[in-house]
Amino acid sequence: MAKTFVLGAGYAGAMAAVQLDKIAEPFTLINKTPYHTLVTLLHEAAGGRGTPTNYTVNLSDLVRRETSNIVIDEVTGIDREKRVLKTRSGQEHEYEWLVIALGWVSEYFGIPGLKEHSLVLNDLDTAIQIREHIEQQFAAYKDDPNPERLRIVVGGAGLTGVELAGELLDWLPSLSAKYGIDRSLVELQNIEAMSTILPMISESLRSEAARMLTEKGAILRTNTKIVEVTENEVHLEGGESVKARTIIWTGGVRANPLLTEAGFTVDRRGRAKVNEYLQSVDDPRIFIGGDSAWVEDENGRPLPPTAQYATQMGYVLAANVSSAIHRQPLRAFHAHNMGTLASVGPEVGVGNMFGIPVKGLAAGLAKEASKLKYLYQIGGLRLTAQKTPEIAHF
Ligand code: NAD
Repeated sequence: MAKTFVLGAGYAGAMAAVQLDKIAEPFTLINKTPYHTLVTLLHEAAGGRGTPTNYTVNLSDLVRRETSNIVIDEVTGIDREKRVLKTRSGQEHEYEWLVIALGWVSEYFGIPGLKEHSLVLNDLDTAIQIREHIEQQFAAYKDDPNPERLRIVVGGAGLTGVELAGELLDWLPSLSAKYGIDRSLVELQNIEAMSTILPMISESLRSEAARMLTEKGAILRTNTKIVEVTENEVHLEGGESVKARTIIWTGGVRANPLLTEAGFTVDRRGRAKVNEYLQSVDDPRIFIGGDSAWVEDENGRPLPPTAQYATQMGYVLAANVSSAIHRQPLRAFHAHNMGTLASVGPEVGVGNMFGIPVKGLAAGLAKEASKLKYLYQIGGLRLTAQKTPEIAHF
């Protein structure tokens, strides 16, 4: 029996595992946590919406056959010469075939002090950390009424920064009321180096998102670059600084560094190059997907690291690793852009679906619908039904 491993249960890895499970192709899935995280919804968890289990799906609910094996561990090295995987627990695994979908890490661009002094929104733990940290600041304000405790800086106004800011802004009134704090004393600055927020959506929708954020109370600062962070202080290009006890960095992502360490051909974001079959250009026994993969579209432009493409890749990763094992022809990957939706708080948002612009409540509803569609895709009716009461609770 071929020894096949799927590394990572993010959007690409989880879908690859689900598909391999469906066709009873034996494999072992290695993931740090016993659950798949709905990373695109983590801003909701950070903003105090719902319970943490709303944002996770147990791996044992996704892959159920005897031919599928789950190992909870962290891959720490890939020795391509010996075909051995190293893990945090010290266990080593010999492999014949690999699907690598190890996701991303925060990109700090070498900005001094940023990593040490900021929070990030990368997984469920960091989402909960953000939520608890902000609440602690509000709780401590009564005995130490330092205005820095009520100031939140979100660095970066890409999709992560805007969705997080929108969600936090909706949470702040009830949080202020809980601790008897006047809402007008609370400040959220969203700081962006470029001349606009959300460069990936159309200009009219960008200004719509900016309007929604400002109406909810955000201070939006574009053309403002963070150049250093020290304890409780964000330093901007030009010399100004902002003192805040909550500093959250959403300024960019890069691929898991394991790919560079394993000697793959990588792009500037550390993603490993693959051919049209999502097969590593360095090793035909390895298939790579999601934010770990450097995939180019028909015009030679690298695809952005998004959940929708990662999910699409999951199907092809599974089909191709199975075909390679059984010496069948491989299938080319074609990305389908279904659109981009950014929520701005629980009810509203902006974006486009199949090229049609949507905003306000319609965008908020479209985002809810895409959540349900995704749950159906990975777990069928059983999972959708299991999770729907939690979603309806919002
Ligand atoms: P991003 O790279 O898309 O945005 C980061 C933003 O931070 C940029 O606008 C950048 O100009 C800004 N920035 C960088 N350095 C800065 C500095 N020194 N000072 C101030 N601003 C700075 O990162 P992201 O938002 O985390 O998104 C990562 C990927 O995940 C993207 O491909 C995105 O499309 C995807 N994503 C999608 C969704 C969705 O579809 N709803 C949600 C979140 C993320």
